[in-house]
Amino acid sequence: MKPVIGVTPQLDAEQGHPWARREYFSCLQRSGALPVLLPVLESRADAAAAARRCDGLLFTGGPDPHPALFGEDPQPLCGPIDCRRDAAELFLFEEARREEKPVLGICRGIQIINVALGGTLWQDIPGVFPGAVQHMQQPPYETPLHRIELDPGSLLEKISGSELLVNSIHHQAIRALGEDLSAVARTSDGLIEAVCGEGGPFLLAVQWHPEYLYESHREARSLFHAFVDAARHRMSFL
Ligand code: MN
Repeated sequence: MKPVIGVTPQLDAEQGHPWARREYFSCLQRSGALPVLLPVLESRADAAAAARRCDGLLFTGGPDPHPALFGEDPQPLCGPIDCRRDAAELFLFEEARREEKPVLGICRGIQIINVALGGTLWQDIPGVFPGAVQHMQQPPYETPLHRIELDPGSLLEKISGSELLVNSIHHQAIRALGEDLSAVARTSDGLIEAVCGEGGPFLLAVQWHPEYLYESHREARSLFHAFVDAARHRMSFL
C-alpha cells in the first residue's frame, strides 16, 4: 500500500480555486506515495479528519503568514496574506501532531510550522538585513542559489550530508524558533534554512524548494524518500 500524503492547497487569487504546483505531486509520486490535494479546511473537525486519513502531510509554499499570528502588525514589505489558509494550516498542523503523522514543510511550510509552535518570523529579509545572502531568485528554480551548512548529527544531515547548495525563493525567514524545533541548517548570514522536530514523529521543514531539485540533486530525492518512508512506516502501525 502506498502512503497517502495530503498536500495543502494554494488559493487562486482571482477565483479561489485550490491548487498546488505539479512538482509537489510528481516528487511524491516518484518517491512511492499517493499525493492528494486537500481543500482549504474550514474547521478543526475537518483538519482532524484530514490528519486521520492521511499518512503524512506536506505543507507547501505560498503567501506570507499573517504577522498577527506572532503578535506583530504587518510591515510595508510583508507580502500577500491569506488568512483562510493560515487558519486551515494551523488546525491541520496541530491535528497532524496529535495523530503523530509525519510532516514535511516547504518554504511557507517551514514558516507556518514555526508560527504554529509559537515562533516568529522576519517579515522581510532585505529590509532587516541589507547585507544578507541573496534569498530571492528568478527562474529557473532548478539552479541552486546559495550554500547552506547542516547541523552535524541532525536528521537532515543524515539525509543530505554536511553542506548543500539549494535554491531560494523567499523574502521571510524564521526569527525566534518555535517550541520543540531545532535549527538544522543555516546560510552564512546566520538565517535558518531548515528545522527538525525534537523527538516525536518525523517533522522536517526546509526554506528552499527541493521539489525543483528532484531531477538534478540526489539530496532532494533523499529528502522526499525519507518523508515518504516515514509515512509508510506510520501507516504500518494502523
Ligand atoms: Mn534561502
